[in-house]
Amino acid sequence: MIALRQNIAEMAGYVPGFQPEDVASYIKLNTNENPYPPSPQVIEAIGTEVGEGLRRYPDAASRLAREEAGKLYGFDPSWIIMANGSDEVLNNLIRAFAGEGEEIAYIHPSYSYYGTLAEVQGAKVRTFGLTEAFEPEGIPERYDGKLLFLTNPNAPLGFTFSQNYIADLAGRISGMLVVDEAYVDFAEENSLELVRSYENVVVTRTFSKSYSLAGMRLGLAIARPEVIAALNKIRDHYNLDRLAQAAATAALHDQGYFLECVAKIKETRAWFTQRLLEIGYHVIPSSGNYVFATPPDRDGTRVYQGLYDRKILVRHFTDPKLRHGLRITIGTREEMERTVQALIEIGPGQ
Ligand code: PMP
Repeated sequence: MIALRQNIAEMAGYVPGFQPEDVASYIKLNTNENPYPPSPQVIEAIGTEVGEGLRRYPDAASRLAREEAGKLYGFDPSWIIMANGSDEVLNNLIRAFAGEGEEIAYIHPSYSYYGTLAEVQGAKVRTFGLTEAFEPEGIPERYDGKLLFLTNPNAPLGFTFSQNYIADLAGRISGMLVVDEAYVDFAEENSLELVRSYENVVVTRTFSKSYSLAGMRLGLAIARPEVIAALNKIRDHYNLDRLAQAAATAALHDQGYFLECVAKIKETRAWFTQRLLEIGYHVIPSSGNYVFATPPDRDGTRVYQGLYDRKILVRHFTDPKLRHGLRITIGTREEMERTVQALIEIGPGQ
């Protein structure tokens, strides 16, 4: 018998998106990756770093990447921390703010990994549901949990909370409000201004979606310098390797390429949404690089299987609150045309 901590022995652990062994033979629309490659400047910067840098440790402070992010977002680099995927900084926020037995909360449905990370810390996890109008249900007026995670845009549903709602929430809760903006580059609004006006607001971002760098593991957080200083005490001192730092700096720098990719995905999202509506699907208007769609017969499992048989991978949800819907990542226009064709073949069901 190994002497595990009780909470680790009891926890289920997080299961990331399904990856079949022959994954390359699928149209992969199940983990919200970007269908386009990273910027050519990123590839070049990584190549230079491979050639010249790898025998040396990376810059522990990820200075160049933070400066580039600071210029882009209009913050002093002391307000920014780079992370090995935004998952790393989500984890460190929990480690910094929620001790054993203390509470964190998030909205269900959203990114359940917050709960897994909290369980590791022995923190308590509370979830707040959503009304039909996509408003959180039951957050107490003076909620006093240590951290409240708001995924905005929401994943998997794709809607956004208004900035007024988020500001109101920040002003009335006593703990930290983490606005997880993993998908915000595909939306019309973000919460960066709230970081300046509310000391308890933290915004997290990832390079995995809009910057096509899921394989590199890169994220960042923007918050007041005292929050960033706390997170810096906790992280691995060399949390970003040299290749990741070079990639992050180049990706943020090449805004032309970035904006072009995001525009293409938004255009394809609009086209795909329209086609889904035409074939009778219920679709939630999305601000992410995915759409949440429910087949006419509400049998997401049937359609998931039909797509899988045709080598198209999507996510499906069996939670009745999620109307047995499918979360479908926006790929290239051609991939989405093939997906629509497959959905027509699969049919509306009974
Ligand atoms: N937040 C949300 C809402 C996500 O969907 C994801 C990715 N699945 C993450 C954070 C983690 O992103 P990263 O790849 O940067 O760790």
